[in-house]
Amino acid sequence: MTASVKKYLPPGPARLFKRIYLTIRGIYYRGNRYTCPICGHSFRKMLPGGFDLPVIREKQIVGAGRRENDICPYCQSTDRDRLLFLFLQRETDFFNTPNLVLHIAPEPALYRVFSKAKNLDYHPATKYSEGFYYSSKVETADLLDLHFDESTFDWVICNHVLEHIPNDRKAMTEIYRVLKPKGKAILQVPISFKLETTFEDEKITSKADREKFFGQFDHVRIYGADYVQRLKSAGFTVHLIRQGKDFSSVGKLEKYAVNPEEVIFFCEKPEKKVRL
Ligand SMILES: [Zn+2]
Repeated sequence: MTASVKKYLPPGPARLFKRIYLTIRGIYYRGNRYTCPICGHSFRKMLPGGFDLPVIREKQIVGAGRRENDICPYCQSTDRDRLLFLFLQRETDFFNTPNLVLHIAPEPALYRVFSKAKNLDYHPATKYSEGFYYSSKVETADLLDLHFDESTFDWVICNHVLEHIPNDRKAMTEIYRVLKPKGKAILQVPISFKLETTFEDEKITSKADREKFFGQFDHVRIYGADYVQRLKSAGFTVHLIRQGKDFSSVGKLEKYAVNPEEVIFFCEKPEKKVRL
């Protein structure tokens, strides 16, 4: 949940100038090598994003670190946004049937697409932080105490949020609660498959130490392979969607400049509660 990705400009001249700037930048970078599936434009390269830190390299954290072809020059989608969009569009009924959707800490590029989709009853929500700007349509919500009734939503999208929350199990339980039976959730986090067990230590609290040990100043853990078990403990059925294997109908994804290592954590709320 980085400031550059999540920040919205308030309406007014600044937003207009930004749009003009992004249009000119999009023209400057146009080409045939990569296509952004979200805005539909093609480019000779995407823009770099992320930070290169020793812990990210050492632990091979997927969904973190420096990416050379990360940000779309025109719509500012990230590689993560594009992969998720392709998955939702091509592998699910997300855009094809009426869906009531909760989108936590909405990524701007996805927000623009979701808010225009005629089939979606779209609820973007976030816990506001000083210095972050969101559209006035984004409502306030606390992931540890969601103000929605049980079994409300068909979908919950919550990407790169759980690694910021000390009590992530409570957040998972809340997401599960507000989903309808058979409801679906995408719960992406930065993750190291080199780690069998999630690394967290509540004594690591300073920004400098969190950056050193967790890879970002406001992260409270590095998820390991047991992330799936944590989701299952909240009640979810979890499908790990791997590119080229479970996610093959799109063919090769290189042209969309996605991270080939990224897996999608596609979760479902069972129709009947299962005893774990
Ligand atoms: Zn784009």
